[in-house]
Amino acid sequence: MEVFEGQSILNFIKGLSNDEACKAYLARVKWQDDFTCMKCGHTKGCEKLGYNYHCYSCHHVESATTNTLFHKVKFGLHKAFCVVFEMSTSSKSVSSIQIGKRFSIRQGTAWYFMQKVRKAMQSSQKYPLSELVHVDEFTVCGKEETKQGRKKL
Ligand SMILES: [Zn+2]
Repeated sequence: MEVFEGQSILNFIKGLSNDEACKAYLARVKWQDDFTCMKCGHTKGCEKLGYNYHCYSCHHVESATTNTLFHKVKFGLHKAFCVVFEMSTSSKSVSSIQIGKRFSIRQGTAWYFMQKVRKAMQSSQKYPLSELVHVDEFTVCGKEETKQGRKKL
């Protein structure tokens, strides 16, 4: 599967239909260029089962969700992806109450996650990869120019 682009909900549902697929997606986006160990800066490693990356130098194992919006998300990756998709493709702003109802997430939890997403969306052009997910991957419409800024920091 290619990096998910566009606003087609059908493609989204097809390509990212469960937690596993979402994790695989994160891993691919995260390590598509290269791997740099967060602990020691080593660039050689290999991908392990379960979408973790194993550093050859210090043996640190990094999860696909580490340093992304989706790290330790309480309601599962799939729902989290859906929320981000919804937020990035909807022309109107969505409330945490709506999101909570739609995805069976507690409103407070939804609100907290959505805050992170909003922040990431605002800063994703300026700080493409640090601390967040590639929100721009979800929104692509008219945002091609951000591609050059997507290098890892
Ligand atoms: Zn390392």
